[in-house]
Amino acid sequence: MPLTANDPTRKTWLDTKPNTDFPIQNIPFGVFLTRDDIITIGTRIGDYAIDLGALHQLGYFEGIELTDDIFLQDSLNDFIADGRKTWRLVRNRVSDIFLKDNPKLRDNEAHKKQILFTLDEIEMQLPVDVGDYTDFYASKEHATNVGSLFRDPKNALLPNWLHIPIGYHGRSSSIIPSGTPIHRPVGQTKPGEDGIPGFGPTKLLDFELEMAFITTDANVLGHRVPIEEAEDYIFGLVLFNDWSARDIQAWEYVPLGPFLGKNFASTISPWIVTLDALEPFRTEGPKQEPQPLPYLRQTGKKNFDIQLQVGIKPENGEETTLANSNFKYMYWSMAQQLAHHTVNGCNVRSGDMMGSGTISGPTKDSYGSMLELTWRGQNPVTLKDGTTRKFIQDGDTVIMRAHCERDGLRIGFGECSGKVLPALQ
Ligand code: MN
Repeated sequence: MPLTANDPTRKTWLDTKPNTDFPIQNIPFGVFLTRDDIITIGTRIGDYAIDLGALHQLGYFEGIELTDDIFLQDSLNDFIADGRKTWRLVRNRVSDIFLKDNPKLRDNEAHKKQILFTLDEIEMQLPVDVGDYTDFYASKEHATNVGSLFRDPKNALLPNWLHIPIGYHGRSSSIIPSGTPIHRPVGQTKPGEDGIPGFGPTKLLDFELEMAFITTDANVLGHRVPIEEAEDYIFGLVLFNDWSARDIQAWEYVPLGPFLGKNFASTISPWIVTLDALEPFRTEGPKQEPQPLPYLRQTGKKNFDIQLQVGIKPENGEETTLANSNFKYMYWSMAQQLAHHTVNGCNVRSGDMMGSGTISGPTKDSYGSMLELTWRGQNPVTLKDGTTRKFIQDGDTVIMRAHCERDGLRIGFGECSGKVLPALQ
C-alpha cells in the first residue's frame, strides 16, 4: 500500500511553522483529554491536536473498516491491534483531509470546532496501555562505556554482547507521559566498612537517553517472528527516558540485573511517530562483526537517522544541552531485537514497549547518560547558570528531543521531559 502521507511535497491548509516537528508528513498518534474532559485518540499537525474520534463520528473515515468506537478509547491498543494496513489507510486519509486543496473540512467551520484543538486546550495522556516493557542494551558505545566504568576497560564488552541483543524485562506500571514529575527514589546502597547497607534518597540519579518502539500483536505463544517480518509488527516510536538510580543499581544488580534502581519511573514522549513516517530516514547501521546467527541476519538499511538531544533545565534556570546523539548508532536494530525477543516463542502483544537501551555515540558529547558524560562524577558538567552537575539534582528538569531531517523534510517527536522532586520520606 502506498504511503501517500509521506509525499514531501504535500502542504496543509492548517497554519504550521516551517520547522515544526509535526508537518503533514508526520501524523503521529496519541491520546488526549479535551477541553470538555473527554478522552480521545488523536493526531497532531503543527500546533493543532486533531480529534480522530470526532473525525470518525462525522464520517471522514468512510470506506475504511473501523469499529465505531475505535478512537473513543483511552489507549491506542485496539487500533494498533488492527494492523499495519489499517494504520496506513488512516494515516493516508488524515493527510488527505488536511491537504491544502481539500475543502471538505477546511471550509466547514462547525466541524472544525469539533475536531481541532490548540495545545493549551488538551492534556496528553499515555498513548498505550503498556502490557509488557522490555529494555535492551543495544548501543555498543554505551555498553563499552559502562563495562569500562564498572568492570574492566580491557574487557568492557562481555562475550555474549556481540551475539545477543541483551535485554531485561522492565516494569510497565511506572511508565509515565512527558511532563509528569517524579520523586527522587529511596533505596539501599552498597555497605560501607561497617558492612551495613546505606539507605535513603539516591545520590546518583541519572537519565538514560533512549527510544522505544511499540508493537502490535506479533505472534502466538510458541511461535517466533522471523527477522524479515519483524518490522511489520512495529507500530511506531517514542522518546524514552529510563530514569536510573546508579547507587541503588550498583548494589542490587548482581545476579539478576536491574530492579528498583530502574523501575521507579520511565518517561515517554506522548506522540507515537509511526515507523511509516520514519521510512524516508533509513540508514545503514554499524557493521556487525562477527556476523550474527542466521535468525538475526537482516538485509537492507536496518537503522534510522534520528537526531537526539538531552538537556537539563535547573529550577528557575535556563536549559543547557548536555549531549547530542543519534538513533543510527544502535548496533542491534529494532527488527533484530523483536526477532530475538520471540525466538524462544515468547509472545508479543499490542501495546508492548521495547526500549533501545541508552543511545551513546562515539564522542564524549554524544553520551546518553550522566554516568558516561561525567564519567561517574569524575568530570562534572557546567550548566549555563554556572552550577555543576555530576548527576541530577532536585528541581532539575531533564528534557529530551528527537527529530529526523533530510532534503528539507523534518519529522520530530516533540519533547520528553520530567522534573525531579525531592524524595518522599
Ligand atoms: Mn535503560
